[in-house]
Amino acid sequence: MTTPTVVGIDLGTTNSLAAYMRDGRPVVVRDDTGVSLVPSCLSFHPDGTVLVGTAARERALADPEHTIFSVKRLMGRTLADLEPELKHIPHQIVEREAEAGRKVLRVRVGGREYTPEELSAMILREVRQRAGNPTKAVITVPAYFDDAQRQATRDAGRIAGLDVLRIVNEPTAAALAYGLDRNKSGTVAVYDLGGGTFDCSILQLADGVFKVLSTNGDTQLGGDDFDHLLMATAAKEMGLTPAGDPQLLQHLRDAAEKAKIALSAADTAVMQIGDRVHTVTRGEFEALIAPLIDRSLDKCKKALRDADLTPKDVGEVVLVGGSTRIPYVRRRVGEFFGRTPHTELNPDEVVAIGAAVQADILTSGRRDRLLLDVIPLSLGVETLGGAMDRIIERNTTVPCTGTTRYSTHKDNQTAILVNIYQGEREVVAANKLLGQFKLSGIPPMPAGFPIVLITFRVDANGMLKVTAKEERSGVEAAVEVKAAHGLSQDEVERLVLESVEHAHEDFTARRLIEFRRKGEANLEHMRKGLAQQGDKLTAEQRTTIDTAAANLTAAMAGNDVETLDRADKAFAAATLPLAQFVMDAAAKGYLGGKTEGDLDSDAM
Ligand code: ADP
Ligand code: MG
Repeated sequence: MTTPTVVGIDLGTTNSLAAYMRDGRPVVVRDDTGVSLVPSCLSFHPDGTVLVGTAARERALADPEHTIFSVKRLMGRTLADLEPELKHIPHQIVEREAEAGRKVLRVRVGGREYTPEELSAMILREVRQRAGNPTKAVITVPAYFDDAQRQATRDAGRIAGLDVLRIVNEPTAAALAYGLDRNKSGTVAVYDLGGGTFDCSILQLADGVFKVLSTNGDTQLGGDDFDHLLMATAAKEMGLTPAGDPQLLQHLRDAAEKAKIALSAADTAVMQIGDRVHTVTRGEFEALIAPLIDRSLDKCKKALRDADLTPKDVGEVVLVGGSTRIPYVRRRVGEFFGRTPHTELNPDEVVAIGAAVQADILTSGRRDRLLLDVIPLSLGVETLGGAMDRIIERNTTVPCTGTTRYSTHKDNQTAILVNIYQGEREVVAANKLLGQFKLSGIPPMPAGFPIVLITFRVDANGMLKVTAKEERSGVEAAVEVKAAHGLSQDEVERLVLESVEHAHEDFTARRLIEFRRKGEANLEHMRKGLAQQGDKLTAEQRTTIDTAAANLTAAMAGNDVETLDRADKAFAAATLPLAQFVMDAAAKGYLGGKTEGDLDSDAM
């Protein structure tokens, strides 16, 4: 066997493995018995030796206290991060002060303490050795991994003696393994059900580049849960009480997993503990796990919703993770998306294969399939009230252009200030100001009359040129800025994650801005309407309007979206008679004037 110099590694919660490319084809690294998966499991002996993989997993039966698994859950995390799931982690975890007040997690085992990076490195070293000790690797991580988790994974690779070329998202790797990057465009849904975690990712492909549109999942949902369900029913059936008996628990767990795997191929399976036997049918098993599969599909629904898509929009579905070998899972996922998912490759090997493809792309210099040259963070302008209006979305491949139409919000406004920002946040204050310029010389016109087209053009080198043109008069202005291309991949991931983290507060901030903008326009319309048709109102109608206007003004000065929403609705109801009069008088245009898209302006 030729030994590769660069491999792709899937460092999984439950299992890890490597693959590489030979003559343009992926090869999965296997042992003499054809097994590719290395259980992500470590067993520590009193004499200092450490077993990794299957051997460690087998020791887990006899020596549960000295066996470590699910290290991936600890990577790049602090004790505080782990708080909600701590009860699921059977190991002794301590937190120690490192340099500069930084805190590091350590796992206590066999009288010693190890960092998660060191433990993961032991797994990586084993995987690396099986592949013939390559020196370079691409390692995969879940799409939702943050900067610290990615950094920890990188460090683990380094400790294991690997030059980590890149950290790649698992769903992207899966799509690469299927060669879906060769399609011109399309949407890919990746359903990944592993041992302990579930992830659904929606990817969008444009010109051979994948963008992660959204991800959703459950860090406490996977094949282990199916095992637990089988364990519980079997224990009851067999009259066993495994609580407090780690050995019996481990036996039960082993029998349950074996039965589960058997049921993926057969209609019945038998669990045996000592002289007690329990038979399970596939139908019974499916009924047991149905609620959990429902839950996973619920997450898919959410991921689709976040990407503004419905199942019909998904072109390809890829199944990842050992648990998607279960026929019932395949059926349910197929029904949900309305199409047959990809299962041609082994679901527990597909991520490693994709990592190998990516490693090959990076080392062979085939730039045609390099997942680069996209706008790392969205580009846009500030609109009235400090909202970010994205003109070019992040991940758009360069070169590209985007145009949006705006107008003025004041009568006789002759200039518009264009503030250019980059970032994912909804409010410009949280994004990065790239540049600004003024479009002046707009002939005096009523508010909303000028047609201002703002065009963003990014060339192949990432240079951004922004032009603003008022269509009626032809006045034009332009500025050239350097898009923030200097960001490292990790920095980009962090910023994107930050926008996800702040999604809720940003959403609120944006709604506040929008309500205020709408309120201002409505008050202006009211003033114009009153000037023209106010005398037709009854005294009572007039008082109602004045009160509603005062309430709206007060709400606009505050920061409460609910209050603003109520004031907005009350104002709309109060001004209804006035609007009627204005319309009756055929004074069109006052209440119909479009106000959205007004640019912020410090116009003189
Ligand atoms: P992870 O990504 O979490 O490291 P894997 O993708 O390797 O894990 O999935 C491991 C899970 O897949 C385990 O729960 C295992 O029991 C389950 N699994 C493996 N093969 C089968 C099968 N044929 N039928 C059902 N479950 C399976
Ligand atoms: Mg996995």
